[in-house]
Amino acid sequence: MQEAITQAIQKIKEARYIALLTHIDPDADTLGSALGLYHSLLGLSKRASLVNTTKLPYNLDFLPGIKKIKKEPPKRCDLMISFDCGSFDRLGIEKKEAFLINIDHHRSNTMYGDINIVDPTAAATGEVVYALLEKGGMPIPKESAISLYTALVDDTGFFQYEGVGAKTFELAKKLCARGASPEWVARMLKMREPLSKLRLLPLVLQTLTLHLNAKVASLRMTRHMLAQTGATKEMGEDALHMARNLATVEVALLLREEEDGRIKVSMRSKERVDVGKIAVAFGGGGHKRAAGFVSDLHDFDRVLHLLLEAIKKEME
Ligand code: 5GP
Ligand code: MN
Repeated sequence: MQEAITQAIQKIKEARYIALLTHIDPDADTLGSALGLYHSLLGLSKRASLVNTTKLPYNLDFLPGIKKIKKEPPKRCDLMISFDCGSFDRLGIEKKEAFLINIDHHRSNTMYGDINIVDPTAAATGEVVYALLEKGGMPIPKESAISLYTALVDDTGFFQYEGVGAKTFELAKKLCARGASPEWVARMLKMREPLSKLRLLPLVLQTLTLHLNAKVASLRMTRHMLAQTGATKEMGEDALHMARNLATVEVALLLREEEDGRIKVSMRSKERVDVGKIAVAFGGGGHKRAAGFVSDLHDFDRVLHLLLEAIKKEME
């Protein structure tokens, strides 16, 4: 991976116009990682544009530079870099327009880049971006530090998840020293909830069903629930975490009806079941403890039935 980082630094230094690509249904890690590099590139007087083809979550509006994100990739650029995206289809773009550097930490990454910097031991893609900035001797202004710190805390559940260790805190320390404020970032991320979200959560929680000796919990979220409350689709995630947090539960599932009627599945596990492996078998991806996929089936019960069979096998 060190070799890939060295090659990427070379490519970045040569490029004049760089497109920074983030994954569909973006989270803090993909956006924070892209913005972390973006502000560094501005310091190097590079032209850079930020791309996300879908809707941005309401609580990430504080990330420095987020308003610069465009829905379409630029017509011409000489380098593309993707962040936190395990497979090319999750970028939401038609085709690769230029040399592509893939920066990520998903074990399930399909290595779709011309250079792939994929570190499954990193707690967040933001950590990989920081390693690249540091190795390249590139600027790390306050705006980059805030963006990368946000990526790091969000992907680790504020330093709770597997993979968090001394190096995570060492990185957090460096980012704080460069101007990231933990209190401010936590407040921006977590303490600006819209009422619509609090109205949505009980509707989703009411669907909670236990399976396989109460080791699995499933939840459903319909388009109707979103329309009824005015909430947006990413707002159900807290219900999923509450279901996972039940004492008996090892795996929690959220089945969400998409705009086109397909079912998006989000999975979280506590300590044994590798949900990343299950997601890959269903055409998706992710990590051991957090993964997902979109099923072409339009039927909650069928998707759930297939999933429970797969989970049962994993638990044996
Ligand atoms: P979430 O359940 O919050 O959407 O995603 C949890 C994790 O699974 C994230 O790391 C995300 O990248 C991955 N993931 C979720 N849905 C998909 C999918 O449809 N395809 C792939 N490759 N990964 C996914
Ligand atoms: Mn991530």
